Amino acid sequence: MSLKKTDALEEYIVEDCKEVSRKFYREGFVMEELKTIEELAKLSEEDFMTGLLNRRGGLRRIDEYIKDNPDSKCAFIIFDGDNFKKINDTFGHQCGDSVIISSAQEIRRQFSKKGIIFRLGGDEFVVFYKDVNLDRLKEKLNEFQAICNKASVIGSKKVAFTFSIGVSIYPDNGKNFDELMKHADDALYKAKYDGRARYYFYSDKMILPNREQFMFDLDEFSRGLPGGFFVYEASGDERLLYVGDSLIKMYNCHNIDEFREHVGNSFRGMVHPDDLERAEKEIYEQQFNTPQNVNRMDYVRYRIVCKNGEVKTVDDYGHLVHDINYGMVYYVFLLDLEDHIFKETRA
Ligand code: GH3
Ligand code: MG
Repeated sequence: MSLKKTDALEEYIVEDCKEVSRKFYREGFVMEELKTIEELAKLSEEDFMTGLLNRRGGLRRIDEYIKDNPDSKCAFIIFDGDNFKKINDTFGHQCGDSVIISSAQEIRRQFSKKGIIFRLGGDEFVVFYKDVNLDRLKEKLNEFQAICNKASVIGSKKVAFTFSIGVSIYPDNGKNFDELMKHADDALYKAKYDGRARYYFYSDKMILPNREQFMFDLDEFSRGLPGGFFVYEASGDERLLYVGDSLIKMYNCHNIDEFREHVGNSFRGMVHPDDLERAEKEIYEQQFNTPQNVNRMDYVRYRIVCKNGEVKTVDDYGHLVHDINYGMVYYVFLLDLEDHIFKETRA
């Protein structure tokens, strides 16, 4: 039988490469061609960007390990970057690539001694940790989180980054790759749901979040809110970091550029000049001189001046939080008191 080279390449995709090489050797392939096939087979199990194994390579090695060591106790750990799309959107795709590469290096540094490591795809990595000691693993995961949390310099940019992590245990939570993956993924989604930047070990008593919760992205969400939503830096020039669509409309602006120009891209420019000093003082008093305000909320009423000159009175509900990239920021919900629906329901 004579195999064409294209058939051969097709076949190596679905079979173990050495098996295939041997078979081709029997079929009369020359050594040069076999070398290429083996090289290609190796490449087919590698993730080009990070140099780690890819899913195919990881799956094969994990299957083999379980087959050879059925009595060992291992951890199947999925790492998923938090809000990675934002890293791309804010710092650029190239910077996103660098974060993926440096995260892969850190995972390799921490786990390669006892782990089969592969990139599942995108910002997701898996470590299959052999002969696991759970206390030691928890220490390692804490250490890993702490390192990622420290902003690292990528090019000229300072980028902080966290991972959510889900862990399942062999053989308690699954006897094969698919079962372990499913349960680690459940734990991961719970970690995402509960606020990200944390790890969870799977338990069958775990109350799993409704995955539909993840269908809404920030823009969609803020468009649907019954008021304006924005985020600004608590210090310095009180720069606007995020502005929702409905806020832009509230100020009678047509788009975000017009809005940023209208308010000088600062919270200060959003408040009527005659109300600014009082509003800022009230926010400061509530946030910093009210010890019982443990949740860092504030409420203040002021006027705003719209692009068309119209003056509106608004209620401002603020929440001071720490952001990993920007430090202390205010999340603010603004309610337009002139809105006729509210007027009617209040009357
Ligand atoms: P979450 O916290 O819920 O995980 O949100 P996320 O933004 O990280 O979203 P998700 O994990 O669902 O998707 C990962 C995103 O990472 C999708 C894509 O925009 C980006 N991404 C995937 N692969 C690459 C890559 O190779 N390079 C870069 N720069 N970005 C990638
Ligand atoms: Mg992610």
